[in-house]
Amino acid sequence: ITILGIETSCDETAAAVLRLEDGRAAILSETVRSQVEEHAPYGGVVPEIAARAHADIADRVVEVALKESGLALSELDGIAATSGPGLIGGVMVGMMTGKAMALASGKPFIPVNHLEGHALSPRLAEDCAFPYMLLLVSGGHCQFIRVDGLGAYQRLGTTIDDAAGEAFDKLAKLLNLGFPGGPAVERAATSGDETRYPLPRPLMDRDGLDMSFAGLKTAAARIIEAEDLSDQDVADLCASYQRAIADCLSARADRAMERFDGDRLVVAGGVAANQTIRAALDAVAARHGASLIAPPLKHCTDNAAMIALAGAERLAAGLVAEDSLAFTARPRWPLDEESAASNPVYG
Ligand code: ATP
Ligand code: MG
Ligand code: FE
Repeated sequence: ITILGIETSCDETAAAVLRLEDGRAAILSETVRSQVEEHAPYGGVVPEIAARAHADIADRVVEVALKESGLALSELDGIAATSGPGLIGGVMVGMMTGKAMALASGKPFIPVNHLEGHALSPRLAEDCAFPYMLLLVSGGHCQFIRVDGLGAYQRLGTTIDDAAGEAFDKLAKLLNLGFPGGPAVERAATSGDETRYPLPRPLMDRDGLDMSFAGLKTAAARIIEAEDLSDQDVADLCASYQRAIADCLSARADRAMERFDGDRLVVAGGVAANQTIRAALDAVAARHGASLIAPPLKHCTDNAAMIALAGAERLAAGLVAEDSLAFTARPRWPLDEESAASNPVYG
């Protein structure tokens, strides 16, 4: 089956056409238009600016993706769009674009949970069979999820305050390194000494798989306020901070893999692009005789291929509601809800 996917939940307007055949995904086309420049002056994503930028460009992005796929709308089997969670104005733009196209073409509309897109993203490139232990680390989420199959998600732990990506973004803002913060901190850290600044590893002595990153930001803020940092100090602070996050994530991943009967550890979401974190998780997987699977960099951050894949897998499995056009956008939508496609209004 062939699906058009649309993603507009944050600051990327993206569309992709994907074919799922015998359980294997082939990306026929993919277009991403980033809003980084619009948001950069504010040091973060401004929801109203994001919604307007999505509205300005969504039709063009979809048009280009379709054109590059070489297919006509009539040749698709369905249209999938992120329908939550995320910045609601942007979500509504992408969802309504998808609904309008579905209505006009008579094809099924498939509302997709953005987190399910991230959760399935390793399957875009690799034969990543279920079950796997997923560490979803992005700008808004930091969770351990046991993935047993499509729609079968069990959340085992979460950050109790900031997400790891948010922690990177906040440090970058404090240091004026630019936006988005993760890549900027990673770049600065390459010439830094990660043992220079002692930073906290919160919750490490506590049971379970919950995480916390707010204290890390506070500790960094105190250092930044206390002294005038040289370029080398900044590099050292970035390296120490990145190491602290990598340590927290890998200690938790270690515990997650201890309890897990499978042999795949998956890291997905924007922070999965970080090489230090990948290396730390790789070592954890190796300790448990497991393999680490991480999507290619462009499928770690937000993209429409993962949304098209989730839509295709749902359609193939018959997991799309008859009245999917009635689905309303959801600002919050936990992945481990009874059914990932359930809707509070329309059941
Ligand atoms: P969510 O998926 O939770 O709704 P989101 O869609 O905004 O949030 P993503 O686009 O998946 O999140 O990821 C963006 C986040 O990833 C940002 O916080 C960014 O700083 C972080 N990030 C991107 N690249 C890197 C990197 N190389 N190192 C660390 N963090 C990174
Ligand atoms: Mg983004
Ligand atoms: Fe995301």
